[in-house]
Amino acid sequence: MVEEQLRHRGIQDDRVLDAMGQVPRHLFVGEDLRDRAYEDCALPIGEGQTISQPYMVALMTELLELKGGETVLEVGTGSGYQSAVLSLLAAEVYTVERVSSLAEQARTTLKRNGFLNVHVRVSDGTLGLPDHAPYDGIIVTAGAPDIPRHLTDQLKIRGRLVIPVGDRHSQVLYQVTRTEGGIKQTVSTGCVFVPLIGKDGWEDETYH
Ligand code: SAH
Repeated sequence: MVEEQLRHRGIQDDRVLDAMGQVPRHLFVGEDLRDRAYEDCALPIGEGQTISQPYMVALMTELLELKGGETVLEVGTGSGYQSAVLSLLAAEVYTVERVSSLAEQARTTLKRNGFLNVHVRVSDGTLGLPDHAPYDGIIVTAGAPDIPRHLTDQLKIRGRLVIPVGDRHSQVLYQVTRTEGGIKQTVSTGCVFVPLIGKDGWEDETYH
């Protein structure tokens, strides 16, 4: 997975490649999908949600440019896989999930496998997580209609936000850096994520 799907496609940060090689991805999917855990694709994790493709996890992590001492916020815990990768690259990882059953399962998996610097919370991540702000990095693993203002507000100066922005079905990955005077943004690749649902995200269509 690391050689063919990541290094070969241009992931260069050795710390990211190393972390991706260390986290056992099969522990973050259901038993029925274990033999497919290292395939080059996203996989279902229940509640209509997915664990992201390994390449997308690596690319987004690389765009955070972590050195090791950072406090990071993830929006969209899902399986907890991305949080586990981040936990090897930063000092503390706060991760928020809106679906409590997914949060509970991720919390169990992370704890059982020794990822002890990950803290799982159930809330609407479009509002960020003010309790532990400001963050050196924020990563959003669901597709947003716009860049949520609360998230850029909760970044430190020179902190980075990595977020897919677009419509409900396809997005573009942005790396947003907070500067003294505002924000600076660069665009990475096209991508497809499940929708970010919440106050500053999309409406929940389940009940319509
Ligand atoms: N990072 C995850 C991928 C999860 S898919 C992994 O490694 O497995 C995106 C997740 O974002 C879903 O679990 C979805 O429920 C969650 N989500 C969507 N909108 C959210 C919001 N406003 N706040 C928190 N989580 C949200």
